[in-house]
Amino acid sequence: MNNKIWLSSPHMSGKEQFYIKEAFDSNWVAPLGPNVNGFEQDLQQYLGDDVFVAALASGTAALHLGLILLGVEKDDEVLCQSKTFSASANPIVYLGAKPVFVDSEDKTWNICPERLEIAIKDRISNGTKPKAIIAVHLYGMPYQVEEIRRIADNYEIPILEDSAESLGSEYKGRKCGTFGDISILSFNGNKIITTSGGGALAVRDQKIKDKAVFLSTQARDAAPHYEHSHIGYNYRMSNIVAGIGRGQMTILDSHVKKRRENYQFYRDTFKNIYEISFLNEPEDMYSNRWLTTISLPSYKIREELREFLLEDNIESRPLWKPMHLQPIFKDCSKYLNGISEDLFNKGLCLPSGSNLTENELNRVVSGIKSYFAIC
Ligand SMILES: *Cc1c(COP(=O)(O)O)cnc(C)c1O
Repeated sequence: MNNKIWLSSPHMSGKEQFYIKEAFDSNWVAPLGPNVNGFEQDLQQYLGDDVFVAALASGTAALHLGLILLGVEKDDEVLCQSKTFSASANPIVYLGAKPVFVDSEDKTWNICPERLEIAIKDRISNGTKPKAIIAVHLYGMPYQVEEIRRIADNYEIPILEDSAESLGSEYKGRKCGTFGDISILSFNGNKIITTSGGGALAVRDQKIKDKAVFLSTQARDAAPHYEHSHIGYNYRMSNIVAGIGRGQMTILDSHVKKRRENYQFYRDTFKNIYEISFLNEPEDMYSNRWLTTISLPSYKIREELREFLLEDNIESRPLWKPMHLQPIFKDCSKYLNGISEDLFNKGLCLPSGSNLTENELNRVVSGIKSYFAIC
């Protein structure tokens, strides 16, 4: 059996262990310390635009705190891009609030401005103005940043930007992770950079960052005894994990470059297979191409191809199943146009790691070519 080819696997720079050793040598083995501060500074510098970053235990924790900071409470409604990973929507339910799902458009596969505005108007006419909009840059492709911002501002609803898959992506030269009223990042094992597990909040105001850090470290008021006037969370990033993050920041741009090269390689190689189509990069957008995604003519062909690759130990994965089709969210309100369901049926993510070798890429390509030669 050939070696397993993963969709996206961790890719270390070699510098991570230096920062981890430093943490051990100085005994900063805790959810605070120089690596946490250093990683936050690296991220702030990378994102630019005067953002303030709070390093947290996961992207999901960041989404949860983000909703709290936006004032979302029990029985509130939160608009959420339906086509996403479930972690975008779950924190709405942690708070006892209600997700309202919005379908995608076909230019970026992200939240559809038209459906979003219809949803807002409809919810307002039902007497419940949504408290927040969760917009996601899926697979590294930015959502329609200006259109979504215009609508959000028009109805005075804040945006929680889920940038978990899009560190390194840009819209009009500005980095993703700087467009929400609050933004989140993830450093899970399969993301563009990883700390093994981890996440961050990026905000526009030092005071909001301070509040996020306060809530993420058990909400202790300033008192020598333990005094609490808020419910707290244990969501801060560990200093060991942050050391991995500092090492990973040194190669972020080269990983983005490599993932974009993977995309271009697949695209060039399959240009004569008319059954395969790709998501173009719209003008003004720069995708980190976290995962290369293709669309196929039918569900049947997508599934056959996926299983065919699996027989050679190659992992590929259908595009995210929309939240409005998930059993757990089946009773939620939704505003649909059919696009996210169609993409789910026909779309496939190909192995896209920055550490794929030429050999591995060639194995994927010859697998796909031989599938289309025989089917
Ligand atoms: C990975 C991911 C998350 C969750 O981040 P974790 O760090 O795994 O908790 C949230 N949203 C999207 C779109 C993701 O891909």
